[in-house]
Amino acid sequence: MTSTVEQNLLAVLAEIASAAPAWGRDPRDISLVAVSKVFTANHIEPALVAGHRLFGENKVQEALDKWPALKQRYPLTKLHLIGPLQTNKVGKAFEVFDLIETLDRPKLARAIANQMEKTGRKMPCFVQVNTGEEPQKAGISPTEADDFIKQCRADFQIDVQGVMAIPPAGVEPGPHFALLKKIADRNGLACCSMGMSADYPIAIQFGATHVRVGSGIFGQRPAPKLSQTN
Ligand SMILES: *Cc1c(COP(=O)(O)O)cnc(C)c1O
Repeated sequence: MTSTVEQNLLAVLAEIASAAPAWGRDPRDISLVAVSKVFTANHIEPALVAGHRLFGENKVQEALDKWPALKQRYPLTKLHLIGPLQTNKVGKAFEVFDLIETLDRPKLARAIANQMEKTGRKMPCFVQVNTGEEPQKAGISPTEADDFIKQCRADFQIDVQGVMAIPPAGVEPGPHFALLKKIADRNGLACCSMGMSADYPIAIQFGATHVRVGSGIFGQRPAPKLSQTN
């Protein structure tokens, strides 16, 4: 019997496979980050059994609670951090994540650089851009993005592989996706993480290389606890 999670996963992969060629894209250039935040290991596992190996979590401690055991059972699984990261949790983040999508300030870049030196481990990153310039939202402002990306590379030797954004709620996401793609292109960055369950086909149209889909695969989440961050 196929599980609902597996059916949803296959449906999202099929949608990627059909949306990509419509915009002249190769579906193999688009990675699906299955966002498993809030869900238990048992709920996540059918996606692993189905062969999926790329996931996203937004909280360090939650990822540490669930993923070391899952990664041991499903080798080659990669985990992206997609939520805000406090500098005092960088060490813990290195224990479980393979890529940080939310690098957004010099202080965090410095902490990541220090941890790379301490552990001898590289940590690829995406720079998060606050395309809507929303005061409550994480991310570097679009006008500061180019300088910040240069600084991460030159001063901190961070392997910046791409950019990431979460457009404002309730607006047409297209212009935000276009802006993020422009920032990626003019900085020579290959990766563009944009698009969630509600709008990933549009993000593919605008050049997403990574789409982050949670509820579309794992089902609706209970309302978030707003007080918790990293
Ligand atoms: C939760 C989350 C997602 C997935 O959202 P869905 O609407 O459930 O697909 C994507 N990106 C980030 C940064 C998230 O926190």
